[in-house]
Amino acid sequence: MKQVKVLVIGAGPTGLGAAYQLNRHDGVDWLLCEQSSEVGGLSRSIVDEAGYTWDIGGHVWFSHFDVFSNLLVKLLGVDGYIEHRRDAAIRCCDSWVPYPFQDHLQALPGEVRSECLAGLVEAALASASGATAPPENFAEFITATFGSGIAEAFMRPYNEKVWAYALEDMSWSWTGERVSVPDPATAVRNTLGDSKDTEWGPNASFVYPKSGGTGAFWRALADTLPPERLRLGTRAISIDRENKIATFEDGTEVGYEYLITTAPLDVTARLIGDPALIELTSRLEHSSVHVIGLGVDASVGERLGNRCWMYFPDPELPFYRVTHFSHYSPANVPQGVDGASLLVEVAESASKPVAADGLADHVIAGLVSAGVLESAGQVTHVWTHRTEHGYPTPTLNRDEIVNKALAALGSANIFSRGRFGAWRYEVGNMDHSFMQGYEAAARALTGCAELTVWHPTLTNSRHPALGLGRYR
Ligand SMILES: Cc1cc2nc3c(=O)[nH]c(=O)nc-3n(C[C@H](O)[C@H](O)[C@H](O)COP(=O)(O)OP(=O)(O)OC[C@H]3O[C@@H](n4cnc5c(N)ncnc54)[C@H](O)[C@@H]3O)c2cc1C
Repeated sequence: MKQVKVLVIGAGPTGLGAAYQLNRHDGVDWLLCEQSSEVGGLSRSIVDEAGYTWDIGGHVWFSHFDVFSNLLVKLLGVDGYIEHRRDAAIRCCDSWVPYPFQDHLQALPGEVRSECLAGLVEAALASASGATAPPENFAEFITATFGSGIAEAFMRPYNEKVWAYALEDMSWSWTGERVSVPDPATAVRNTLGDSKDTEWGPNASFVYPKSGGTGAFWRALADTLPPERLRLGTRAISIDRENKIATFEDGTEVGYEYLITTAPLDVTARLIGDPALIELTSRLEHSSVHVIGLGVDASVGERLGNRCWMYFPDPELPFYRVTHFSHYSPANVPQGVDGASLLVEVAESASKPVAADGLADHVIAGLVSAGVLESAGQVTHVWTHRTEHGYPTPTLNRDEIVNKALAALGSANIFSRGRFGAWRYEVGNMDHSFMQGYEAAARALTGCAELTVWHPTLTNSRHPALGLGRYR
């Protein structure tokens, strides 16, 4: 039986981050095993039979960590990526409202605009009076922060679509960097003065690989690893926690001192077979995502111009977000095709099932009614994909479950990390995932503390003292 110091399960961003760290240390025996025939996990890219490149949902590249940003430049080269300024908008009341919504209320029709602005001011006054109790769930957070007008016009219907989950049953502890919190003075100033304020948040600018989609980076990273330490097509089917042995589908066994698993936390519990852990983690919730890639006429891309993506709160439309994917990189459209491409996302969960049959037609009809397409005839190509694990839902009990499960696993030298390994959406992006793996591997080797998985708020604060940096 092969014996290693560190075994890593899964070659998505987390597993590759771990491998990158392990590979920096001479004399350490480690192995990375991935069930799929390719690396990248949810961040891989797929070239379909017609030559279109697709991501598993719109992936944009922004970073909280110098080590990650620098690696991007090193592996793709300074000419290997395209820099974008975010140009995003929300389709609301037949208008396009630039993102962030609350700073562009002037784009709304009169009555809705007044409701949104009045609600915002009322919420600010209530908060300033100190008479309001802290919100108990995400629904209350939305109304308390944005006021009832914006809550009804955008925030509630949009989030109900993305999460496919009751907002009353979600926490708001994750919102810090993911939800743009309004400043009523800016909202009033902008509404009266028509100014544009679109710079909020960590993804106000982002980069995208020039070719090969988001997955190009993860393939480039995997290419830096010793081939004998990366086993593709190798699925873990059980973990013997007591004896520290993982068994794979091909019958091989690997003994380890430390195990970094990036499979979803409930899957790891089942691999271990501990009934209490299985029961605990079965209470975690997630949503799935249907991704519909559309090849469209060049005129659609010309009309969208520099628009990067669009949000759709209207419950009548099946999709929550549409990405102008050929704008990210023209190479996402096959050579010789004079056209553009759109990437459409539809969320699904146990409480909100979606019929895959006919979904693409439903999506195309929705794009026409929302004014993204002039007619269904502008669609020249359709690609569909469904991912079971899309968003780890921050339910009210999530932290209690995750903290208990990670502690139980950690005491057996098993570090469950990554978007679904640690189930923390607030540190579930590519850069966070890479760092979770990078830090878990460092902990296995040196015992040092991990910041990203245990201190999301601090991590996302980009405090200069932490050496967490800008994009470059
Ligand atoms: C719709 C959508 C949009 C997104 N947009 C962005 C964005 O704009 N920017 C951004 O930074 N991030 C984005 N993300 C998040 C990004 O995809 C994740 O951060 C990242 O892929 C998580 O990496 P991971 O390694 O933790 O998990 P994964 O990518 O899920 O990788 C886990 C790997 O483990 C493997 N595995 C699982 N079980 C086993 C087993 N038993 N044996 C062997 N291998 C196994 C899987 O095959 C997989 O390759 C988005 C995600 C989604 C779904």
